This record gives sequence, structure tokens and C-alpha cells, in this order.
Amino acid sequence: MSIPIQNIIPVIEAKATIELVDEIIENVSIDSRSQQNNNKTLFFALVGPNHDAHIYINDLIDKGVNNFVVNYIPDNINDKANFLVVDNTLFALQNFASYYRALFSFPVIGVTGSNGKTIVKEWLNFLLSPDYNIIRSPKSYNSQVGVPLSVIAINEHHNLGIFEAGISTIGEMVRLQKVIQPTIGILTNIGSAHDEGFVDISQKIKEKLKLFSDVEVLILHKNKTIEAFLKSEIKTFTWSSQDRSADVYYQKKSFDNHSVLNITYKNLCFSISIPFTDDASLENCMHCVLTMLYMGYNDEIIQSRVSELFPVEMRLKVKNGINNCTLIDDSYSSDFQSLKIALDFLEHQKQHKKRTLILSDIFQSGLSDDELYARVSQLIISYKIKRVICIGDTVVKFKHKFLNSISFQSTKDFIKAFESLDFDNETILIKGSRQFEFENIVSLLEEKTHETVLEINLNSISHNLNYFKSKLKPKTKVMVMVKAFGYGSGSYEIARLLAHHKVDYLGVAFADEGIELRKAGIDLPIMVLNPEMTSFSSMIQYNLEPEIYSIRQLKAFLKIADQKELTNYPIHVKINTGMNRLGFDTEILPELVSILKGLTSIKVKSILSHLASSDVLSHNEFTLKQISDFEKDSSFLMKELKINPIRHICNTSGISNYPEAQYDMVRLGIGLYGVSNDEDEIHLLENVGTLKSVISQIREIHEGESVGYSRRFMAEGKTKVATIPIGYADGISRAWGNGVGYVVVNNQQAPIIGSICMDMLMVDVTGINCTEGTSVIIFGKDPSVVTIAKGIKTIPYEILTSISERVKRVFYRE
Ligand SMILES: *Cc1c(COP(=O)(O)O)cnc(C)c1O
Repeated sequence: MSIPIQNIIPVIEAKATIELVDEIIENVSIDSRSQQNNNKTLFFALVGPNHDAHIYINDLIDKGVNNFVVNYIPDNINDKANFLVVDNTLFALQNFASYYRALFSFPVIGVTGSNGKTIVKEWLNFLLSPDYNIIRSPKSYNSQVGVPLSVIAINEHHNLGIFEAGISTIGEMVRLQKVIQPTIGILTNIGSAHDEGFVDISQKIKEKLKLFSDVEVLILHKNKTIEAFLKSEIKTFTWSSQDRSADVYYQKKSFDNHSVLNITYKNLCFSISIPFTDDASLENCMHCVLTMLYMGYNDEIIQSRVSELFPVEMRLKVKNGINNCTLIDDSYSSDFQSLKIALDFLEHQKQHKKRTLILSDIFQSGLSDDELYARVSQLIISYKIKRVICIGDTVVKFKHKFLNSISFQSTKDFIKAFESLDFDNETILIKGSRQFEFENIVSLLEEKTHETVLEINLNSISHNLNYFKSKLKPKTKVMVMVKAFGYGSGSYEIARLLAHHKVDYLGVAFADEGIELRKAGIDLPIMVLNPEMTSFSSMIQYNLEPEIYSIRQLKAFLKIADQKELTNYPIHVKINTGMNRLGFDTEILPELVSILKGLTSIKVKSILSHLASSDVLSHNEFTLKQISDFEKDSSFLMKELKINPIRHICNTSGISNYPEAQYDMVRLGIGLYGVSNDEDEIHLLENVGTLKSVISQIREIHEGESVGYSRRFMAEGKTKVATIPIGYADGISRAWGNGVGYVVVNNQQAPIIGSICMDMLMVDVTGINCTEGTSVIIFGKDPSVVTIAKGIKTIPYEILTSISERVKRVFYRE
């Protein structure tokens, strides 16, 4: 891309303030963290319900970005820059993408539907890539933002596009159609996913079909309901295994690990074999077969290529590696777009000084190899990659372009040399296309722990944060509580995400937790709820701010503050209004004032109290009394000390139930992790943590046989018993055993039978389709931690924070 800024102004209908006239735009960004931002970037400052990228503009100007599409020009701009002011920056991004898309005239496949979009896209990419230079949406970039960004990555070497479109409500598809402008349409299916955004199924069908308003052909499963909604001028190309009037008809035979489809199309009969047996995969495969038929492929090529289809892994995963390394596992794809995405992702993870990239040959960039690897080399420099390990015939030829590189012809050669390569305390990005089988590299580098993992969805954390922010007044600050290892979810990774979202404060329980965060590079202000006197000195060293709750503790802190000759060191004064845990009682406040008055070593940064029962509405009166006492006591301190500190009292349920008590800041805790006491609110939050394990062994027992210690389960008939390697030492309460609780295997509930052991538990999987090695959900969406808490008469907080540190945490983004 190379477009003068002046040409973009009319395209997005902007009012422009141009200070630098000759700017040429070569790339587009919406992510302030991306290392790809530079003086050729056009930055679109997107605004979400609670997210406003205008706050990053000054940071970006400092990094050299000169061109911005904005809703308004922020005050106090650091330096000269061009501002294109529009009513809606998202629409402007879409309009720009639509203009850019129209500059190219090759065929573009547009895929939508309720399920299977990404798989169909990835499979088509694999099937067609021997013959085309394909541009496709990276990962599952199919949203109002993801689609324009995918389209903007087209370059002059591409000759086929495959883009997916996902929508959640009406009005969205028309905009995506304008951006994608598909010439070939694929409708995967219409299921019940995301129904909330539509009044009924017919509205949903009509909306989805808008993607195909201008296609030459629409490929779909033959379906009378959907066809009834289609305009007569749209030509369809349909398949079915039931309806012989479809253009393509097939019959299937299933075997253990593959299926054979006998296909009839016009006068042609042929059979294909695919390495899947489930219906969803067959459906996805048929969409690909029809696309290939439509594009003129013969049965032989179709047969040979579909026989090599593979499962698609869409997520970037972060894993703990050997020797204290952090792995970013993207071992299933290696196009240039997704390399850029993976490098940005790396930038957001735990920072080791050393960064290594393990890279295979890159396919279908649309660029010549020279240009491609020159660009890769630029990326490697801007992301400060210290070492590149090249694997594959092509990338090896370009290894001289990378500063510090090691090369291998094949993955096997790498594995032979593995012991000599010395991976230690570094971030390793593993990026390879499927045929290189980099999963073998991942398994060498991965820290070996047991098969139980707690998966943390980082997107859901952002979602939940934004949800709670939407309940706040614009000026209300947010402190997020990341105590107890981020409520069991991991502290550093979450803190880093929160820093990006520019939350105002973090709260931890003890100094050690704050020190850990500082050591990992978190520089947000951090309040320590329960600072022990022995840790004051190291707290000061790490710039952690104590909560002060008693005269004794205050005096101890002041003594150290004097020794260290501190000035204006921030402290937080806690008032007790009825929790009766920590804090100054009202009667002590005059004494507190007499000590603090005139002191210059410290500064009262905030005054806080804590609600004892904000989640229990029957204690409403009590809570209101707490709030009014807080108002009185804090006002007294402010008046006597002539200060104007931040005041805060609300925790998560306080935010929801006492919006009038937001004061200047709130302290968000459990809600961030997707938990709420409120039935309605639960549906607006997203589940963050999923605790998973796998079945170690399955056996069948008969009437009268028992399971586990003390023989507390007795079989009443033939019972299929599965053993799962997680027990009370991992944090699964024994109270959840003996038929009280369950795990989920293949979407079905399997009751826990017998007593939960230290490291294992047994479940009844009679009638459930599973084998040794099948994955099991201990908690997540179902059972949720709320369900478990109810079942064993405790609170979700205890379930989350009990999960032992020996359970590996894996963080991912969708
Ligand atoms: C833990 C904690 C919070 C957060 O509470 P949630 O109910 O998890 O939102 C807020 N304030 C204090 C003082 C806390 O200890």
C-alpha cells in the first residue's frame, strides 16, 4: 500500500487538520502496542463502549506516528501531526478498507455462517494454495474491526482472497459486504449461536445473506428455508446427502478414523476420503469440494488434496517452557500476516531479556522470496528478536538477513541438535506451517507437568473489564484487585493486560505480590492491602503504596519514611465502617489527624473503606449506613487535613448494586474473572478460566464392586469408570466428590463417584462417548465456579483461589 494522506480524506469523509502535507500511508493500525506503528502508519483511534484509543495518541506521536483518524483532536498534543476527524472511526476504517478492496479485481471468497467459518477458510487456503497467491483473514479475524484489517493487507501479488465475516446483530453484514465485496459466497450453516442479537431466526438468515448481495455464486447446503429468503437473481450451487435435487449429492461411509464420500455431480461420480468422521467436518469439507468444483478443479486433484485435510488450531497459546522460558506456540501456520500478529502477541507477554524466533518457510505471502524475507528481517529487528532459528529449504537461504541465526534443513535436524541449543530464560516464538510439524518442537520445549491446565481467556478478561467500566461514570477510576495470584488466574499476565487497558491502580494483599509484579515489569501504581511492617522497606524500594489502617502501623511506617527521607510518599487511609477487619474507627480519626497534619514525608493519596455485604440485598440498610459513615469520616479527614484524595469503597458487587457510591474510584475484583452473584449479570460476563484435564484410564466394573478409598461408591450395575489426574491437592474440594459434583466429558455430565483422592478423582462415564486421553472439563462454563460453590456451600472466590500453583496456567487470546 502506498497512498497519499490527501487521497484518504474524501474516502472517509473527514474534516482534516493537515500539518504535514506530503505524508504517504503504507500501513494501518488500531493497536497502540504494535511495534509496526511508524511514520507511514495511519492510526484509527477506535472507541468502544469503554475503550477509547484517543488516550494513546500522544504515546504514538512519541513513537513517530504522524497520521490519525479521530473522533476529536485531543488536548495537549505533543507534536505536529495530521488529524482526520470523522463521526465514527470504525466506519471510517471500514470505508477505507472498502475503497482499498475495490482497487483489486481478483476473485474473493466470502464465508459466513454460524459455525465452521474459520475451518472452511483455512482448508480452502490449504486446498487452493498450490495454484494461487492467497490473502485470507488471519486467525478468526471476522468482526467489524477484523474484516477491514484483513482486507487492508491485500497487496498487488495476491490473486485470490478468502475472508470470513461474523456478525452478532442486524446492520453489521451490509458493512462487511462493502469491505469484502465477495464474488464467490459460502454460507456454512445457520445454527443457534449468537442468537441474542436477532429477534428471530428469519431476521438472522436475512442478515447473513446480505453478504452475498452481489456474488456470482452462492455455495450452500441445500436448504429450502434459506432458499426461500434468497433473491431470485442469486445463483446457487448446493450440496446435500438427502436431497437429490441438490447440484452435488453424496453418500457417506464412516470408518474408524476416516470417512469416504461418494459424490455425484452432473455426469461425474467419484469418491473422496477425508480423515474425519464427525458431521461438522464433513459439512466443512463439502463446502470446500463445491468451491473447488466451481473453480474448475477435476476430481483427481480434489481427491488427493482433501485426503490431506487437518484439524485447525486457531489460538495462539502461551506456555511455560523448560529452563524458565516462555513459549508462544503458533506451530500451525506461517503466513506473513500471522507472523506479525504473533510478534505483537509476544510483545504483550512476560518479558525476558532474550527473544528467540523459531521459523519455518513462509508460504503464500504474495511477495517474492527476496522481498518477503527482507520484510521478515525488518520485523525481527523491530521486535528485538535476539536469535532466529530457521528451519526449511527456503528460509535457510535467507538466513544471512537475520543477525544471529542458526539454520536447519528440517525439523528432524533441529531435534537432533536440540541438546546443544541452550534455551534458557527467554521468550520463544514457535511459528511454522503445518507440514514442518513444529508441535514436536513445542513438546520438547514445553515444561513437563501433568496434563491438567487452567486455561485463561484473555479476551474475556478485557470483555469483563469493559463491562464493569460501562457501569461507571466517565471520571471514575478503576483499581483492579489482582491479589492471591490474580484470584488464581495468574498475576503477571493479567496485570500486563490491565496496564494496556490503562486501569488506574492495581491492588494486592501482600508486599511480596507487588514485588513480583514490579520485577516482571509492571509499572502501574500498586496499593498493598495488608502491608506487614517487616516489608515496609522493600515496599518503598519497589514503589508500592501501603494501606494504613492503625496508629501503630502508621507510626512504624513514618519511622522508616523519616529514615529514608521520603517526601510525599503515597499512602492509603482505610476507615472501618462495619466490616470490622482493618481500618481506623471513627473515634481514632482525631488522633490520626493530629499525627498526619503538616507531615511532608507522606501524602494521603486515597481514603477507602470496604463494604461487608454489598452482594446481599437484604443488608441494604446496613450497606447504606456504611456508605454514609464513609462519607462523614472521609469528609472529616479531608476538611481537617485540607486534602482532596481519591475516595473509594465499592468492590465488584458494590459497583453493580450501589452505583451512587462510586466516589472517585472502585475496586474491581471477582467480576473481572467472570463471576457475579447476580443471575442476570452472570450472562453479561464471559467465563475466564477453564480447568481441564484428560482421562488417564477407563475400566468397567460390575454390581457390588466399589470405587476409591473407604469404598464409598458401590456399583449398582455395570458402570464405566474413568480416572482423572486431579485431586484435592490441586484444589478440588473433597466435598465435591461422592456424587455431589460432576465433570463434563464430551458435553455430558459425568458424576464424581467415590471420594476425591489427593491427586486423582473417578467419574462415572457410563453411556458417554470417551476413551483414555479424552479431555475433561473440571470447571468453566459448565460447571461454573458459581455452580460448584453452591454445591459445596462455599463462595466462588474460594474455588478460584484454591487451584494449586502446580496446575499449569495457559493464557490465550481468541
Ligand atoms: C478483595 C477486595 C476487593 C475486591 O472484591 P471483589 O468482591 O472481588 O470485587 C475490594 N476491596 C478490598 C479491600 C478487597 O480486599
